[in-house]
Amino acid sequence: MDFLRPETLAEALELKASRPDAVPIAGGTDVMVELNYDHRRPSALLDLTRVPELQQWSGGLRVGAGVPYVRIIDELGDQLPGLAMASRTVGSPQIRNRGTVGGNLGAASPAGDTHPVLLASDAVVEVASVRGTRMIPAAEFYLGVKRNALEPDELIVAVHLTPAQGPQQFSKVGTRNAMVIAVCSFAISLFPDENRVGAAVGSAAPTPRRALEAEQFLASALDFKAPKPLLDSVKREFGELVSRAASPIDDVRGSAAYRKHALAVMARRTLGWAWQELLDGERACA
Ligand SMILES: Cc1cc2nc3c(=O)[nH]c(=O)nc-3n(C[C@H](O)[C@H](O)[C@H](O)COP(=O)(O)OP(=O)(O)OC[C@H]3O[C@@H](n4cnc5c(N)ncnc54)[C@H](O)[C@@H]3O)c2cc1C
Repeated sequence: MDFLRPETLAEALELKASRPDAVPIAGGTDVMVELNYDHRRPSALLDLTRVPELQQWSGGLRVGAGVPYVRIIDELGDQLPGLAMASRTVGSPQIRNRGTVGGNLGAASPAGDTHPVLLASDAVVEVASVRGTRMIPAAEFYLGVKRNALEPDELIVAVHLTPAQGPQQFSKVGTRNAMVIAVCSFAISLFPDENRVGAAVGSAAPTPRRALEAEQFLASALDFKAPKPLLDSVKREFGELVSRAASPIDDVRGSAAYRKHALAVMARRTLGWAWQELLDGERACA
């Protein structure tokens, strides 16, 4: 197996163009599992850990594909609270030290923890090749189970997000708190200035997906200009619409019926937390 070690992004893109068979490796927390279990025998690995352009984030926000979870939590928690919450639930400290959002996107598992947050926060994925750069909205990035919109010569360079405009929440159901793949997960972002809500489910369909009807319902049911305590009927309807957005399967981690139920519960709870944060903010300003 060839081991390719570019030192710049330009070099990495040249190598990917000449060796589309080369499997990129960032933190290696997915790739090494596949190699160790002999699920994959690539002819070459393209090590991205020495490419400085991928390890940086900059204001705005453009988060390099190779920024590990631990840095998202430590350095970006105030600007991207939803992504930081999801990052805190990934694996263990060792996995969070190595694992990256770029790797989560590259693997495109329906159960990846960052996906619902990226969808609910209108993230855009920057991908590049020697042919140029493409900006792909997260909602168009996931094509199927472990399939994404990358062409064979492309690499994920960064994820673009706006700093949170309002409260964000993430919730995940698993058999325990650490080191579990999500049975299902849910993310919500409030955009009070735009009277808008982002909501997305994970591990509950072939791809992570937005709960569009639920988003539209909340945008019409909530008054962001003069927020009042949430009605139970609004929470219930929101939970129901989120649950309806999913098309889960029965598998070893949980049944489809359980997933639908859990999504409705997570949606109600996270909406309650996010809305309370908004109300507390209003009171603090008054
Ligand atoms: C014990 C354990 C626990 C885990 N727990 C969780 C969890 O709780 N939640 C969760 O979501 N995941 C979990 N994972 C999976 C994994 O840690 C995450 O998916 C992580 O984000 C992968 O990032 P990485 O940098 O290690 O990716 P890698 O393993 O390096 O790569 C993953 C995939 O992305 C591709 N890739 C990587 N970078 C790029 C790039 N820049 N451009 C194009 N393709 C790229 C690779 O070719 C590969 O296909 C766990 C894994 C382990 C081993």
